[in-house]
Amino acid sequence: MIVRLAVCVLPFALGTPAQQSIRGFPTAAAIEQRAWETKAQALPDAMRIRSYMQRMSARPHHAGSAGSREVAEYAAGLLKEWGLDAKIEPFEALLPYPTTRIVEMIEPVRFQTRLREETGDATQLATFNAYSAAGDVTAPLVYVNYGIPDDYEYLKRHGIDVKGKIVIARYGKSWRGTKPKVAAENGAVACIIYSDPRDDGYFQGDVYPKGPFRPPSGVQRGSVMDMPLYVGDPLSPGWASETGSRRLKIEEAQTLMRIPVLPMSYEDAAELLRHVGGPVAPEQWCGALGFTYHIGPGPAKVRIKLDFDMSTRPVLNVLANIPGSEFPDQWILYGNHHDAWVNGANDPLSGASALLESARTLAELRKAGWKPKRGIKFALWDAEEYGLIGSTEWVEKHKDELVRKMAVYLNSDTTGKGTVSASGSPSLQVFVAEALRDLKDPVSKKPLLEARREQPRRDGSKPEAFSLGPLGAGSDYVAFFHHAGISSLNLGFGGEGGGVYHSIHDTFDWYTRFSDGDFQYGKTFSAMMTTLLMRLADAPLLPFEFPTLARALEKYESEVAKLANRQAKFDTKELRAEITQLTAAAKSLESVYSNALHSWKQPSRSKLAQVNEMLYRAERQLAPEPGLPGRNWYKHQLSSPGLYTGYGAKTLPGIREAAEAGRWEEANQQVKEASKAVRALKAELVRITASLQF
Ligand SMILES: [Zn+2]
Repeated sequence: MIVRLAVCVLPFALGTPAQQSIRGFPTAAAIEQRAWETKAQALPDAMRIRSYMQRMSARPHHAGSAGSREVAEYAAGLLKEWGLDAKIEPFEALLPYPTTRIVEMIEPVRFQTRLREETGDATQLATFNAYSAAGDVTAPLVYVNYGIPDDYEYLKRHGIDVKGKIVIARYGKSWRGTKPKVAAENGAVACIIYSDPRDDGYFQGDVYPKGPFRPPSGVQRGSVMDMPLYVGDPLSPGWASETGSRRLKIEEAQTLMRIPVLPMSYEDAAELLRHVGGPVAPEQWCGALGFTYHIGPGPAKVRIKLDFDMSTRPVLNVLANIPGSEFPDQWILYGNHHDAWVNGANDPLSGASALLESARTLAELRKAGWKPKRGIKFALWDAEEYGLIGSTEWVEKHKDELVRKMAVYLNSDTTGKGTVSASGSPSLQVFVAEALRDLKDPVSKKPLLEARREQPRRDGSKPEAFSLGPLGAGSDYVAFFHHAGISSLNLGFGGEGGGVYHSIHDTFDWYTRFSDGDFQYGKTFSAMMTTLLMRLADAPLLPFEFPTLARALEKYESEVAKLANRQAKFDTKELRAEITQLTAAAKSLESVYSNALHSWKQPSRSKLAQVNEMLYRAERQLAPEPGLPGRNWYKHQLSSPGLYTGYGAKTLPGIREAAEAGRWEEANQQVKEASKAVRALKAELVRITASLQF
């Protein structure tokens, strides 16, 4: 149902671009808009995007380092050079650096793990998991597959207890932070996470430098902060962390991992796993190392010793501002992080370089006379890798103002080649689909919307028609969407970056050889983001569309309704009834909205400002206080990162997580909360419908 709508846009795409309508624009305004868009889309330059990436990826630039400051100053310098009002807005956060990392096998043979990647640049941050506990433990090893709750169920059924043991889990299937969390809940005293070549290495294809996949010594760094609880600086949940601001004591922080955890290469892990005995692992647990996998415990006995420098360090966000000419108090923001674990050509500079080119495009356009009606901001966030820190502290600092003024947040991160993937607020799905209709794939020259439908997926199946996926916790949109309720989008081209994710091999050389080497997709991506920004900034009526949102809720409701079982006194009838009413209100608004555009009578500026503010604030009704049970930093009823899936989103999370855990009373209570939010949104849509009769 949801998807059909996006496809329905296609028949209108057959005319020339000038004849096509743009959502939110009356005909005359759309023609003028297209003229500016055509100019804007001709400006991005692949060679410039390439040069930003080459420059910013030249040195390691993890958060808090001299390299990170250099990148922030370089980006701010470019933005200023182009004539934009740019500055560095500093925060501070707890950013641990590793000081001691020892993992050695004591029994049955002695083996000292190397714990380092191939080349040795002294300014690289050593391989580690940020926010691990410090400690020195020695215990027998247990292999726990991916370390997801199901794996521990299997161990229990087979009488294997991980209490007091060190577990070794492979990356994949769940977000990395949930692996040590589940391990600790089951009594393990430490956790090793390694990249198995079956999921991430030679089993997938040739390894770097011959191919794009992870070489034997490659290690995936990454944060193990308990992100489903809250993100940002662990010592300042809900408020901004700045010089001199209030901070929790380290012992009071809720999001720090309670046991030592360290990532490892498959070269190191193989030696440990080779010496694990006990029962043979089931077939689905076996990776691609060349021996039989056993579960243990022991005889491999391992010592892990970790320590960290738990300093507070600078977090340097770069912000640039283009004032709005008609509605200066309504803002559109486009952000991408600039910090990396090491050189980070792919993650995050592929996205950050395209963002810089969008900023240059709009700076050029202004010189040619274009004035956006709403304010446009660009942000390059710092310390995303540690736990979305730069963006979260910024949102927490400016929250009251952002809730009033920020119409939409656009996010990007890693971008490559291939097809567009997009997630975000369902009320912006039609808007995004239109932009994908209007921009062309640089290789096939077909509209991006068509190109993505024709690209077969890895498993050979045809991709579904376009729809926005729900937002989880993978990048900097979290504080905007989940905490402040601001409608958000996350967009990018292509895959995840093969086998170099969070390793020293994510370099300019890797990107130019194995991803978007000629930057043609980078150029298209920049043009696409610029187009989205211009439309949001200039639309007389913001392009929110609520029937799709109502359909998304309908789908989520039907899914959670199925969680009820025979014993449970649980039902979602109240929510279903509210969604039915929401659907009717959304349809009425939609018809009044198109009529208003069709026979456009320019209302006063203040009237228009008021209607648009109502449009962009409507969806915020779905993110009310007091927030989700047990983690009220998260407010959104539409989705949240799952408590045990991390990056992966759960829709209608309050209801779903309670029902999945069999807490039926809480589930019923959450049905009430969600119903209340949907009712408030419906009332808001009714109010907008009345205001739209100019
Ligand atoms: Zn990233």
